[in-house]
Parts: sequence; structure tokens; C-alpha cells
Amino acid sequence: MNRESLLALASDGREFDVIVVGGGATGLGVAVESASRGYDTLLLEQADFAQGTSSRSTKLVHGGVRYLKQGNISLVLEALHERGLLIRNAPHLVHHLGFVVPLYDWWEGPFYGIGLKVYDMMAGKLGLGPSETLTPEETLSHIPTIEPQGLRGGVIYYDGQFDDSRLAVTLARTAHDLGAIPLNHVAVTGIEHESGLAREVCAVDRLNGGTYRFRGRAIVNATGVFTDSIRALDTPSARPIVRASQGVHIVLDRSFLPGDSAIMVPETDDGRVLFAVPWHDRVIVGTTDTPVPEAALEPRPLKEEVDFLLTHAVRYLTKDPAPEDVLSCFAGLRPLVSEGGDENTAAISRDHTVIVSATGLVTITGGKWTTYRRMGEDCVNQAAQIAGLEARPSETSEMRLHGWSDDLDPSDPQSVHGTDIAGLRELIAARPELGEFLHPSLPYKRCEVVWAARHEMARRLEDVLSRRTRALILDARASIEAAPEVARLMADELGEGEDWVRSELDSYRTLAETYLLH
Ligand SMILES: Cc1cc2nc3c(=O)[nH]c(=O)nc-3n(C[C@H](O)[C@H](O)[C@H](O)COP(=O)(O)OP(=O)(O)OC[C@H]3O[C@@H](n4cnc5c(N)ncnc54)[C@H](O)[C@@H]3O)c2cc1C
Repeated sequence: MNRESLLALASDGREFDVIVVGGGATGLGVAVESASRGYDTLLLEQADFAQGTSSRSTKLVHGGVRYLKQGNISLVLEALHERGLLIRNAPHLVHHLGFVVPLYDWWEGPFYGIGLKVYDMMAGKLGLGPSETLTPEETLSHIPTIEPQGLRGGVIYYDGQFDDSRLAVTLARTAHDLGAIPLNHVAVTGIEHESGLAREVCAVDRLNGGTYRFRGRAIVNATGVFTDSIRALDTPSARPIVRASQGVHIVLDRSFLPGDSAIMVPETDDGRVLFAVPWHDRVIVGTTDTPVPEAALEPRPLKEEVDFLLTHAVRYLTKDPAPEDVLSCFAGLRPLVSEGGDENTAAISRDHTVIVSATGLVTITGGKWTTYRRMGEDCVNQAAQIAGLEARPSETSEMRLHGWSDDLDPSDPQSVHGTDIAGLRELIAARPELGEFLHPSLPYKRCEVVWAARHEMARRLEDVLSRRTRALILDARASIEAAPEVARLMADELGEGEDWVRSELDSYRTLAETYLLH
């Protein structure tokens, strides 16, 4: 997958069947779906794949116990079904994980015990294992650092866990394997119409300023919290439909949660769900739900959100985290489809929405990472109809994703590459120094930088440190220390010089410092 040759290929004057704007979970899911049906597909992402919300999730492939509590049965059923498909179709990226609900009140045992049995039943054949009630001793054996004072026991249930930006890159590669052209760092700046129908997008290459026009029979808007800006490019008077709600996570050392399971707190003081989840040998604690007035690609955590997470971590863990223990802190924006003027974002539906404008622009938004495939299917059904494409059935529920492998050890940090591991090994065989780690506190090897630039379209230093590897999230300070070596390896691979290295290092340091609390 070479960006420059794909850009040249996309500019050969052809008319695409489907042009997708936005390269997060939703847009990539649409591109895979469209290409798998044999439609000529182009995807344009203004920044990097998953640079927006799709690299900032809680990393759960789940039905959503919280939605069950809200009584949103159809959403839970759909998400549990998709969870099962994704574990089958991408076993190198999605794994089972036990989630323990610690119980401190007498009524919680029957309440959550029964609720989670319903959750098990709803998963049907695609279930990951039965939930069980635990004694206090069993609870402590799963979560040795859970607060033992007043602990009456727990309930354990199973959900999926994944690496979000790695799944995004895998979807880009899957789309490419199927004949689509996925392009990162190309922003859509205009939409042109013919006989009142959206038929062409104007775009700019964010890396070198080059401008392009691409023709398409159907144009799909999959831009998450930026949905309304594309709707406005298409129809200046279009009604805004998306609101953003910020969710923050903090990342801690694994010693704060050393067992084999995650903690799920079903109801915090203000009615939120809170998770503490082991991930890549760290612990992710989150999240919050704060309405924000504007969409941003790099949202900033608020002090009160971090305080909220630390206060609750202290309450449930025997090892109390302080601000200086936070290895990284990141924020993401949920695209919530608002119907009317409801101010309470936590109560807005997480279901996805497909809207077709009078110009034929197909907008898909809402939903969650777990349901990206189903969103793609629904959207392409609409787009094919709008564009008058030959109707073809969806096959993605049975389709293995790029790198599919079910015999890799999930505790091996390189397992996220699936069968591409063979390519990494060849790089090391040719240049043994590429087998060295980038930093003593990070699980990544030099060969992954070369691989990312050569095969995964990484073009900015941040692409490698934040999304091809997860260094920025695992340990922001270590990622700053590893940055010069990564920049040098990328510059060699991309044919860039000293000026590029200096400017990338400057902008990366500025970014990474915002992931640190002090
Ligand atoms: C804090 C938090 C935790 C979450 N946890 C989970 C979880 O554990 N499990 C789960 O299933 N879901 C989770 N979600 C939901 C999930 O992450 C989102 O639903 C999903 O990532 C949204 O993807 P998207 O593609 O719609 O949006 P995005 O990922 O934001 O993608 C939209 C893309 O469009 C691009 N774009 C915008 N304008 C243009 C333009 N003009 N030209 C080209 N491209 C453009 C942007 O750069 C962006 O990359 C979570 C969400 C949040 C915020």
C-alpha cells in the first residue's frame, strides 16, 4: 500500500462508484464494504487513518452493558452480534477479556448477576463465556488491587478488547486488498454538483499542498464529529445533526491493576460507567462524558475530567494513583446524533444514522467502533441505490480481515500485525539492527517503523508514534525520547532530509506534551 502511487492512480481521471470522506472506523468500514461488493472505491482522510475519535476509544468490542441498563435492547443485540463476527474475522486484533463488577452493597449481587445473565443470553451462539458470581476471595484473585474494605464479592462477564488504530490500519489494508484506494492526509474542501446532485469532491494533499478533483457516482460523508462541516459544503443551509461529547482516559502502569481482568464500575456518583482495563501491559482508566461546543481533531482533557478519573481510581484500587503516575492522558469526541435540542449528551442514542440529502450525499454517523461493519453495510446499501449501482449482497460478515491469524499469542506486542509478522521478520533478517527495541519502556521494534512507512502509509512522525505503534498512549514521555530515532528511520525510508526531521520532531514534541499531566 504505497500512498504516492495510489494518489497517482486515483488521479487518472476515472469516475469512482463510491467516494468515502473520512478515514475513521465508519469510513473505513464503508470502504471495505463497498470494495468487497466490487464497487470502485476511493477513501479520503484529511489527517491519518483513525486520527480522530477512532484511535481514542476505551478499546472495547462490546455489546454495551450500559445500553442494556438504558433498555436499548436492539442496540445491544446488534453490537453483541458484531462483537462475535469481529472476533471471528480479526482474531489477531480482538481478544476475550474478563470484566469484574466489584460488589459493595447487598442488592448489587442479584441486580448485576441477573443483568449480566441477560447479556450472556443476548449474545446467543456468539457468546464469549458465561458470567459468574464471585466470592470476595475469587474477586481478589482476579483483581488483586481491588479495594477489599466492604467487598461482598463480584460478578465476572466477558467482552472483547482490541487495538483501535491497528484495526483501522487493518481495515485500510483490507480495503486496498479488495481494490479500493484509501488515502490519508488528503482533505475534502468542496463538493461540486451536476443537475443538483453531488458528483465531485475537491481535495487538497495536506503533505504538499497539491489539489485534486475526484468524480464519484455516490459520495459518502463519514466524518464523525465533523459531519456537519461536510454537510455544509454540500448544502450551506443543511441542519446540524451531530453534537460532540468528550471522553477522557488516563493510562497507568500495570502495577495498579496486576490481575487478569478489567474492572467495570456500572454506576459512578454521577451515573456514569467506569472501566479500568489492562491493555498492552498498561492500564486504561476511563471515561468521561462532557458536552463540548466544537469538533476538534486533537481535543484536550479538562482538569476536572482527569480529577474525576483519579478520584474514582483511588476509591476502587488499593494502590492509589497520583497525577505523577499518569503515563499518558487522551481525549476523544463521541459523534452523537442529536434529534432536537436535547442538552443531555449521555442520554442521546448511540445508534447509527444514515441520512440522504436532496443532493444524494449519503451521511453516516453515530454508532460505535464495535458496529462499524454493520454501519458500512447499511450505508453502502443506500449509496448503491443512490448511484444506481448493480445491487450486490454484503459478504463482510464472513470476511477475514488483512493479516488474519488465530495462532498468535495476544501477549506478544507484535501479534497486532497478524500474518504481516513474516514481513517484519524478513526486515530483521536483512538488517539485524531493525530487531532492536525503540525504547526500554516501549514494546516496539525499529522494524515496525520501517514497515509502517513502507506498507502502512505512515507519513508523519505522529502517525508512527501514535497510531501504527501506540507509544504516545502507552507512555508519552518515553515516546518523546524515542522520537529522534523514529524520525531518522522514517526519513531514511521516505527520502526526507534534516529539515523534515527537525520540523517533525518539533511538532511531535508539542503534541506529546499535551498528553502529559505535568
Ligand atoms: C472516549 C470514547 C470511548 C469510546 N470507546 C468505545 C469502545 O470502547 N468501543 C466502541 O465500540 N466504541 C467506542 N467509542 C465510539 C467509537 O470510538 C466511535 O463511534 C468511532 O470511533 C467513530 O468513528 P468515525 O469514523 O465515525 O469518526 P472518526 O474516527 O472521528 O473519523 C472521522 C474522520 O473524518 C475525517 N475528516 C473530517 N473532515 C474531513 C474532510 N474534510 N476530509 C477528509 N476527512 C475528514 C477526520 O479527520 C476523522 O479521521 C468511544 C468513543 C469515545 C469518544
